[in-house]
Order: sequence, then C-alpha cells, then structure tokens
Amino acid sequence: MIKVILLGPPGAGKGTQAKLIEDKLGLKQLSSGDMLRAAVTGGTAIGQTAKTFMDSGALVPDEVVVDVVFEHIDGMSGSKGFILDGFPRTVEQAIALDRKLAEKGSSIDGVIVIQVSDDKLVERIAGRFTCAQCGEGYHDVFKRPAQEGVCEKCGSQAFKRRADDQPETVKHRLKTYHQQTAPLIDYYRRRGKVAIINGELSIEHVAKEIDGVFSSDVTAESSVTGG
Ligand code: AMP
Repeated sequence: MIKVILLGPPGAGKGTQAKLIEDKLGLKQLSSGDMLRAAVTGGTAIGQTAKTFMDSGALVPDEVVVDVVFEHIDGMSGSKGFILDGFPRTVEQAIALDRKLAEKGSSIDGVIVIQVSDDKLVERIAGRFTCAQCGEGYHDVFKRPAQEGVCEKCGSQAFKRRADDQPETVKHRLKTYHQQTAPLIDYYRRRGKVAIINGELSIEHVAKEIDGVFSSDVTAESSVTGG
C-alpha cells in the first residue's frame, strides 16, 4: 500500500493535485480539511468544536483531528493506498501518524512538499471557488469554467466559496502554516523522504513534476515490497 503526504501552505494546490493523483494512480485522497468541513456541515460534536478554530484560521486541536483522520486510515485497508492532504499539520500529528503506521509494521513512503510564496497564495485563495455538487475546483482568474456558470465536470450551476478564504483569515492561516506546519519539512527530511516541488508553475506542470516523484524511488519501494 502506498502512503504519501502532500505538504504545503493553504492555496498551494494540494487538493487539486491530490485529486489528479487519485484519478491517475487510484490512491485515495484523505483531506483532513474536507473531513472537518463535513463534520461542521453534519452538525456533529466534532464539527461544533472544529468550527470555532476553522473560522478564525487556527488549527483544530491535534487530538480531534488525529481521531478523525485515523478513522479514515483504518478504512483504507485493502486499498491501493492513500494520499494525505492537509494532515499532518503539526509535529505532534506527525509523531502520532508514525506511531499509528508503525503498529501495523508500516511507514510513510514519501512526502511531497508543494512550495508557493505567500504573495501568490493570497492571490490564489482569494479567487477560488468549487462546484457545490462535485467539488471540482475553479478560480476567478486562473481557471474559469469553459462555459460561464456551468461546472465542466458535472454540469451543475451551483458554486460555493469557503468561509475561511477571506483575506484576514487567510493571513492567519499562512502564519499558522509557517509556525506550526513548515517545521514538518525538516522532520521528514531527517528521514530522507522529502521531494520539493515548485508549486508556482501551472497545474499541469506541477502534476508532471509530481508524476516524476511517483516514478522515482521516493514512493516506489512500498509498491515493490507491498508494505
Ligand atoms: P484545509 O482545507 O486543509 O485548508 O483546512 C481547513 C481548516 O481545517 C484549517 O485552517 C484548520 O482550521 C482545519 N484543519 C485541517 N486539517 C487540519 C489538521 N491536520 N490539523 C489541524 N487543523 C486542521
């Protein structure tokens, strides 16, 4: 089973690239942000706790996120593998993940870091929106639907924007990323598992670079050993 982490600041394109990898390689995208948003929409106790943190651009407490994500990882047995998008986001979460996988005699195969400068991130996040039905991502400037107001993937005419994509909240999310999540790059570098990708290139170009990582040794080992 292949287990890969996509790491990078909000707006770097993790979700977009995770979906492309899902389509191409059959690895399941596990997005902690999507899981938490589903809990908020569902009005669950976890959702109510998470909402306060998410609305302000802060991180949801480790123990809450870890439980939610691990439940999904447990549901992955027998699958081809998964790609973690937005998790881990703190060193504590990374340690918990290592422990969780070690219990099954397994470990993370590779970490792909998508790097984008803060200026570009603010511009990107401010313009993004998704199809309310299928979740396909769009952008006011970089990726408008071919037919205005109609989703290219499913034909829906309903779109939505994330509440935490407001400029002030975005600034807080970026600060949080630099303080709490960026140290993970060194955490995984020490294990020799990191590939750095320039996320400022086009979606297609970034996808190509990521394809290159998948065909290199970074993730190939477990597909050979089955680990
Ligand atoms: P995302 O969709 O990944 O940008 O996540 C949206 C929000 O959900 C973040 O700003 C956090 O409030 C929360 N969140 C998502 N993943 C995590 C995580 N691994 N740890 C803590 N909070 C998270």
